[in-house]
Amino acid sequence: MRNLIALFACLSVVMATASANDPPAASAPPAAAKPAPEPAKPVVAPAKPKLSPAQAAAAQAQAEADAEAELSAKIATRLAAMRANQAARVAAAAKARKAADARRKQEALVATVAAQPAVKPYPGNHWSYEGETGPANWGRNPEWSKCATGSRQSPIDLRDSMKVDLEQIVFDYKPSSFSVVDNGHTVEVTVSGGNFITVQNRSYELLQFHFHRPSEERINGKGFEMVVHLVHRDAESKLAVVAVLLERGKAHNMIQTVWNNLPLEKHDVVNPAVVLDVNEVLPQKRDYFTYMGSLTTPPCSEGVLWMVMKEPQQASPAQMALFSRLYPLNARPIQAGLGRVVKESN
Ligand SMILES: [Zn+2]
Repeated sequence: MRNLIALFACLSVVMATASANDPPAASAPPAAAKPAPEPAKPVVAPAKPKLSPAQAAAAQAQAEADAEAELSAKIATRLAAMRANQAARVAAAAKARKAADARRKQEALVATVAAQPAVKPYPGNHWSYEGETGPANWGRNPEWSKCATGSRQSPIDLRDSMKVDLEQIVFDYKPSSFSVVDNGHTVEVTVSGGNFITVQNRSYELLQFHFHRPSEERINGKGFEMVVHLVHRDAESKLAVVAVLLERGKAHNMIQTVWNNLPLEKHDVVNPAVVLDVNEVLPQKRDYFTYMGSLTTPPCSEGVLWMVMKEPQQASPAQMALFSRLYPLNARPIQAGLGRVVKESN
């Protein structure tokens, strides 16, 4: 008997647990199901025997009209609710579509950015005349930003110049000791002190001269085979460069002296025992173009007074060929004039 009671208790517990886990026996009808219109309930008028048949009919008609109005109101309410639901569903779908579009656009943008090669920083402080370290990229080095952003850059094409009575440049050059170096960009000749030019009431001392092939500057679009740049500096460290264009012709004595003393290795310095007379590189006619420009190599510093001699000098094809074996191309491309005034001797 005791066992039976225990069994009954266990069964009760099991049944209670099972029924708790069971789904509801009967599910409620779906809420969205369209409710059947409620039939008009016959209005049971209180028995009022005193009403005439006509009055009774009128009361009946009134009751039916009331019921109909009530039904119409219910249908209208229901329709309004359905329309509101539908509008909400349309709005939600539009919102979801918009979000999906935005997500797709964002993913496309991320993919595009990922596909673009990263902008590499300028490689070190080396520069050259072509490729990754060439003139088009010099300005990417933060220390040489002027090469890209400057507005007074050199060289330029000398055209539409103003013909005026330009003062003569006073050259005060004398035979000087010198040294020659191939600095990796050009052949550069440093002269000892005491060589001056005077222009615009300023005196500039010659520091060095060097060569470019082809000429960096142009005259009315015309380039020359080579150019010599004579770099001067005044007491306030302002620079003035005299450019002498070189064309093919007879051998040039002073250039031959420089070539004779070329070092065997780059960056080695040769100090010859002979002297050099830089007057020899100047043309007989001293007419020139002048404009404000820059260094034509990094860092492309501006504020440089340029004087380009109009009359070219000559060097022999063999002398040209010798330089081109070292530097077949060491000229910066033409830069924008940007409205600069170029003056020319009359
Ligand atoms: Zn130069």
